[in-house]
Amino acid sequence: DLVFNYITWGCRNWQRFVFCIMEKSSVFCFAFSCILAFPFCSWTTFLKERISERRQRGVPPLMQHFFGKIVDNRIILSPEDEHHLIHVKRAQVGEEIEVGVDGCVYLCTVASVYPLKIEKKIALPSRELPYRLGIGFGVLKSEHSEWLVQKSTELGATSFYPCVTERCVVRPKAKKDPKWERLQKIANESAKQCRRGRLPELSAYKSWNEMLALPYSNKILAYENESLHGDPLLNALQEMKMDDTLFVIGPEGGFTLAEVEQAQRAGFRIVSLGKRILRAETAGLYGACLIGSMMEKRK
Ligand code: SAM
Repeated sequence: DLVFNYITWGCRNWQRFVFCIMEKSSVFCFAFSCILAFPFCSWTTFLKERISERRQRGVPPLMQHFFGKIVDNRIILSPEDEHHLIHVKRAQVGEEIEVGVDGCVYLCTVASVYPLKIEKKIALPSRELPYRLGIGFGVLKSEHSEWLVQKSTELGATSFYPCVTERCVVRPKAKKDPKWERLQKIANESAKQCRRGRLPELSAYKSWNEMLALPYSNKILAYENESLHGDPLLNALQEMKMDDTLFVIGPEGGFTLAEVEQAQRAGFRIVSLGKRILRAETAGLYGACLIGSMMEKRK
């Protein structure tokens, strides 16, 4: 009866009947092809993973990089790094690792895991800048500060000084806050990634007066209102004797004239970073690049 009713209904509404069959069959075909494709997809990913693992086995994995200190001629890792090496990286006796200590990087071997004993083998070529490079910046919106700290760490900056200036939009309530903690983590991860000899120092949030009192031989402030006719940074660097250098940039809102005049009285050189107004994080990076290059060139 059901079939008979279906057919009679189909003859009366044959277009709808044809469409209905097509719709049901296309859904059916789609479902069936998914069932067929699934094992194939998972199989190809499985194969790809095996191939990449085999390829990796051929190429030794990038050596793990840690930071530590030397006590009684023994390398002691920071507690976090010790935990990471033993429990996450599952260190093996005889495994080689790199450890940054006070600016030097040592090639070491794991002599024992429990307790962890690391033997220093040889000192590797230093990757640090020949002088200290401090980056002072008006506290920026989180992602901008993070970007600036990460990239400047790669460029060799040794210290960061986040500072609350008059036009800071972000105004931390404490000397250190969760955003500060995250910034410290980003700096440490970046220092590992670029295999630095030391972890960059991140100071607690500073006041403008504390920033101006920082002890550096060369102190440079980039001022946006000097962009068109000011003293270009490169020119200032060529005239300076290369030494520990502090480079300061303003927040998204820029500097007030009063802040710049205070900096001038405190011995800062006021410079232009070119005719265009750069984002704060771009300005910070511009300075880190140029100052770092000049330090390397004239060490
Ligand atoms: N609100 C400012 C304005 O509209 O003019 C722009 C401030 S800028 C986004 C943030 C900081 O980057 C400035 O305080 C300054 O330190 C630096 N900066 C950006 N472009 C610069 C330039 N061409 N010369 C000197 N400093 C610059």
